[in-house]
Amino acid sequence: MRLLIMGPPGAGKGSQAELIAKHYSIPHISTGDMFRKAISEKTPTGLLAKSYIDKGELVPDQVTTELVRGRLKEADARDGFLLDGFPRTIAQAGMLEEILQEEGIKIDLVINLVVEDDTLIRRISGRRICKTCGRTYHVDTKRPAKEGECDHCGGELFQRADDNEETVRNRLAVYYRETEPLLECYQAKGLLKNIDGEGSIEAIFEEVKAVLGGI
Ligand code: AMP
Repeated sequence: MRLLIMGPPGAGKGSQAELIAKHYSIPHISTGDMFRKAISEKTPTGLLAKSYIDKGELVPDQVTTELVRGRLKEADARDGFLLDGFPRTIAQAGMLEEILQEEGIKIDLVINLVVEDDTLIRRISGRRICKTCGRTYHVDTKRPAKEGECDHCGGELFQRADDNEETVRNRLAVYYRETEPLLECYQAKGLLKNIDGEGSIEAIFEEVKAVLGGI
């Protein structure tokens, strides 16, 4: 199964992607996670990416696509994958198409999580992430059992530098300008499935499974 998960920042792509990847045994490939890893390892790509991510801007298409190209060629992605946060521009979608053609493969479905702006801003501003395993929490809706500590691994929880309200507003503006137009392309190809992303993580995942059951 080869899938894309799309939606504005804070739509819950990461949470659903985690569940989908586990349920269908496919790798979860998140460009945001790859950039954050590169930043923590202080690689040249990481240093470059940081200057864009901190402002809520997109990392240049070429850099992002090369990262994805390399990742899709790894053995675990041969039989399926879930791409989360890529493509984010028309140019990236074109480059993805080229990569897929080179490999002789196709995307089966594009899941688009639909969420109102107010909800997105509330979700992102309260989001906390485990430094060790990357699991996400929320100060109101998904609190850890022990303040500041991950339930799963005991790691320290932190707030992403780009999860403050000002940067979030820019990320949303960038999403509507650069990424949302892609939905029409996938709609025209008959690949798009819109899913209401306002409910609980579990309820949304039930809908996702119902949609994917048809593949
Ligand atoms: P995410 O974790 O998906 O919200 O991504 C965090 C940040 O990483 C984004 O706000 C962008 O700055 C950058 N990023 C992630 N994916 C891409 C992409 N496909 N193209 C450009 N920048 C990206």
